[in-house]
Amino acid sequence: MNMITQLKRSSSELIALEDQHGAHNYHPLPVVLAKGEGVYVWDVEGKRYYDFLSAYSAVNQGHCHPKIVDALVQQAQTLTLTSRAFYNDALGEYEAFVTQFFGFDKVLPMNTGAEAVETALKLCRKWAYEKKGIHENEAKIIVCDGNFHGRTTTIISFSNDPDANKNFGPYTPGFIKIPYDDIEALEKALQQDNIAGFLVEPIQGEAGVYTPADDFLAKARALCTQYNALFIADEVQTGIARTGSLLAVCGNCTCENKCERQAATYQRPDILILGKALSGGAYPVSAVLADDEIMMVIKPGQHGSTFGGNPIAAKVAMAALSVIDEEHLIQNARLLGKLFRAEMQKIIEKNDLVVKVRGKGLLNAIIVNDTPDSSTAWDLCVALKDNGLLAKPTHGNIIRFAPPLVITEAQLMECVSIIEKTITSFKK
Ligand SMILES: *Cc1c(COP(=O)(O)O)cnc(C)c1O
Repeated sequence: MNMITQLKRSSSELIALEDQHGAHNYHPLPVVLAKGEGVYVWDVEGKRYYDFLSAYSAVNQGHCHPKIVDALVQQAQTLTLTSRAFYNDALGEYEAFVTQFFGFDKVLPMNTGAEAVETALKLCRKWAYEKKGIHENEAKIIVCDGNFHGRTTTIISFSNDPDANKNFGPYTPGFIKIPYDDIEALEKALQQDNIAGFLVEPIQGEAGVYTPADDFLAKARALCTQYNALFIADEVQTGIARTGSLLAVCGNCTCENKCERQAATYQRPDILILGKALSGGAYPVSAVLADDEIMMVIKPGQHGSTFGGNPIAAKVAMAALSVIDEEHLIQNARLLGKLFRAEMQKIIEKNDLVVKVRGKGLLNAIIVNDTPDSSTAWDLCVALKDNGLLAKPTHGNIIRFAPPLVITEAQLMECVSIIEKTITSFKK
């Protein structure tokens, strides 16, 4: 045993280590996790918590899912990385699997969500020049106020969160911002010259789980078709069963298990962006899916990633997607999501600390009755932690609740009582 594994450090020592040696680019809740299984995580002192963040919806299949871990370990012992300079024996099988799973001709494999968004933007621009006939360097992509698509220089160029973009300029041009969930603004923007596409989150997760009007995505889809612009869905957070359907663009479909993508509510994107739960949180795996007409504009040498499409990622993603089907996680998220919002509504009616619950499936948020710059939501999350449930505020006074989708009804009801107890006894 080496020195590092022998030392058993306390939470406060570990927090101090990060504080001293790590960049301060996050503000974590003061809890240090050492183990996870299913819906639970444990801190270094051995206290158990319900995880109501799920690593921003990466751990939809639950922590350390045995099937996913098994795929990871087996492939890690066999072949980890070849780069795309050579073929590997896992990638083709995965590409066939994932394109069939989501119903697209082709996939372009990447690692993180931000890289997949970057890929989609590049693909959209290239399509615009080579297929739509926009003059080079003139293409514009429409995005929404309040968006969150990742942290690269180009992506933060069209963020309107000052934390995300202040003093990181100069910014990448070529983006037009419209209000979220505003179909008239979208149509006006689409009428401008040189529009290549519309990049949208079907539900804005980071912004505070903003769910658009029921018909917004359908109308946006139709308008993009009408104006020959690509409809690009960033489902990095909302996708893969989180909102009670395979994808949030599936709408209110009632498929009992795997989404068959035949529901009238399905708004098929031209480009679909996935990440996070594509690996069940075991490995960084992201993907861009599109049909040949779009994807084939990228030729050898024009885009890539050393790790994208590596054999571990391929095997892990196939296992992670299989778990969604085998454990009926779409249906579970849909049913338990309804129950959760109904239970939150009861708490809201009895208590004025919380004013609203919103969301879909198991991607939900409560709005705390205080200003966004108050510490109330943060303090409430600290109190929830003390009572055994981990959640994080987003944008000040909003608390997102997104447990792993393997949660059972009994576990969810225990969490409801933790939340109720915490809210009832909370003193500002
Ligand atoms: C998390 C997220 C991303 C970025 O993913 P990373 O893996 O953190 O780069 C992009 N879009 C959405 C909607 C996200 O929630």
